[in-house]
Amino acid sequence: MRAVAVIGAGQMGTGIAQTVAQHGMQVLLADVDRARAEAGKANIDKALGKLVGRGKMEIAEAEALLGRISPVSDYTPMTDAELIIEAATEREEIKKAIFEAAGKQLASGAIMASNTSSIPITRMGNYAPDPARFIGLHFFNPVPVMGLIEVIPGLATAQETTDRITAFARSLGKEVVLSQDEPGFVVNRILLPMINEAIFVLGQSTANIEDIDKGCRLGLNHPMGPLELADFVGLDTCFEIIKVLYATTGDSKYRPAPLLVKYVEAGWLGRKTGRGFYDYSGDAPVPTR
Ligand code: NAD
Repeated sequence: MRAVAVIGAGQMGTGIAQTVAQHGMQVLLADVDRARAEAGKANIDKALGKLVGRGKMEIAEAEALLGRISPVSDYTPMTDAELIIEAATEREEIKKAIFEAAGKQLASGAIMASNTSSIPITRMGNYAPDPARFIGLHFFNPVPVMGLIEVIPGLATAQETTDRITAFARSLGKEVVLSQDEPGFVVNRILLPMINEAIFVLGQSTANIEDIDKGCRLGLNHPMGPLELADFVGLDTCFEIIKVLYATTGDSKYRPAPLLVKYVEAGWLGRKTGRGFYDYSGDAPVPTR
């Protein structure tokens, strides 16, 4: 592919844009308005600056990569994209409006993909102009570092779309896991109940934040504890995913932990707001309970 559009310039959208541009493709980056899209590009610039500072990327490569990313104010230029990747907030009504609006610019033969963590692909395919060219393309955070992408065809997705998207994912140097369109796909179906359970454990004062994370790091050999990871993912995103698991299965084992609900209501969403289970205002994260 030569040109890809990314809608949503938050932590995932910027990671996707950076990774796609790193592999030589042109990227159009959109958000709710031009200023947010520009801020997304500025965050990529910052991330590249760190890589250059650590000697992991040449300045010339970082400049060329950044030059391939164009923030846009609306979806009009996306007629040139062979692929539009939606990576906006995990709420179905937001994504529906994006698919309907951006769908008007989708070139014939181009693919529309969603980076949703949990919303059914088959259902969202109906909001796009052609469900045969609609697919789930689930990246992991941070995108430039993580080696996996889940590919999720919906019921109406054409095999050709799945093949092209799988080839695209591999062209980014990632491994691909194919998942059927079931709640949470593969990885989040396993991960989110663990994070939610860790928040129940905290809410019941079985252990404090530090010990829950230490327990999983040292006892399970996980690189991050579940509460650190929840802060990294974003507590709003965790909440939306567990709610979808609960609503789509009706299984009470997926009911959101009350403390997760409270944190989201308080606006303590994790790293992106400076506070979640840890406080990120100092040099090192400090547990808050
Ligand atoms: P985020 O909050 O960092 O970013 C969301 C972005 O979407 C924001 O910049 C917001 O302004 C933008 N947005 C909201 N409404 C929009 C609209 N109408 N049009 C365009 N942009 C709009 O969230 P995130 O963590 O980047 O998550 C984005 C998507 O990626 C979600 O679907 C989430 O489930 C999925 N995802 C997240 C992770 C993770 O670890 N955070 C991992 C895989 C997938």
